[in-house]
Amino acid sequence: MPELPEVETIKSQLSEFLPLEVQSISFSDKTSRLIKQSDFIPQTNEIIREFSRKGKFLIFKFDNPDHFIISHLGMSGSWRISPIKLDAIEGKHAHVVIVTNKKVLSYIDPRRFGKIYFLNKLNFDKKMSESPMDISEPGFDAQHIHSIFKKFPNKTLKTFLLDQKYFSGVGNYIASEICARAKLVPTKLTGKLSQKDCLNIKAAIDLIILGAIKTQGTTFGGGYRDAFGEKGEGVQHLVVFHQDICQMCNKNKVIKSVLGGRGTYHCPKCQK
Ligand SMILES: [Zn+2]
Repeated sequence: MPELPEVETIKSQLSEFLPLEVQSISFSDKTSRLIKQSDFIPQTNEIIREFSRKGKFLIFKFDNPDHFIISHLGMSGSWRISPIKLDAIEGKHAHVVIVTNKKVLSYIDPRRFGKIYFLNKLNFDKKMSESPMDISEPGFDAQHIHSIFKKFPNKTLKTFLLDQKYFSGVGNYIASEICARAKLVPTKLTGKLSQKDCLNIKAAIDLIILGAIKTQGTTFGGGYRDAFGEKGEGVQHLVVFHQDICQMCNKNKVIKSVLGGRGTYHCPKCQK
């Protein structure tokens, strides 16, 4: 599933082609589940000036100050940039196709759990104000993390890390990796975490996000593709997730369990 590093990768790759002038936009006949709001539809000659990211949202900003697209990639979504329209095979799951003066942007989503909003300024500001600070923002420090845990002391650490209201941008593989790098067992109760644990969690977040962005995101068997249709190489940096042997101690077998309905990985020796 595309998480913060994957969305950041797509954002950076699309940004290389800015500005983009829209020539046409078309939709597949299966977009009713994907398109959540249509305050406007981009017109011919409209300029896409900027791509940005907040949490797992990819944001398109236009020269028209009243036009914004917010895209959440769901389970299997991706924005592909290609010289010409994708062929029938590659474009099979292309649900929104924006032809521009330079490249073709296609929103591809085989499972259609993504969400796309075409918003005016008022609704865009509203949506952004509802969206919490994400884990890569400077204010998201150890103290902030500690204050969240103090407020919710009876949560299971790894499951709570997936709560987008508090840990915006974290998904399943990142949550397992945060626990591992911070040397904390995933089932740890949040109320038991010290200030020092929170410093370790913050350091783990920074390390994982930076590492994953550098390798253009992380792809698990047949999943995420970046804006050029390539797999991310971030899987090389994982220490427990989808690993047999813990990559921190290089010795102990990683334990796979199910926590809150999600696959969870940890090292029984490194994590306490
Ligand atoms: Zn280990």
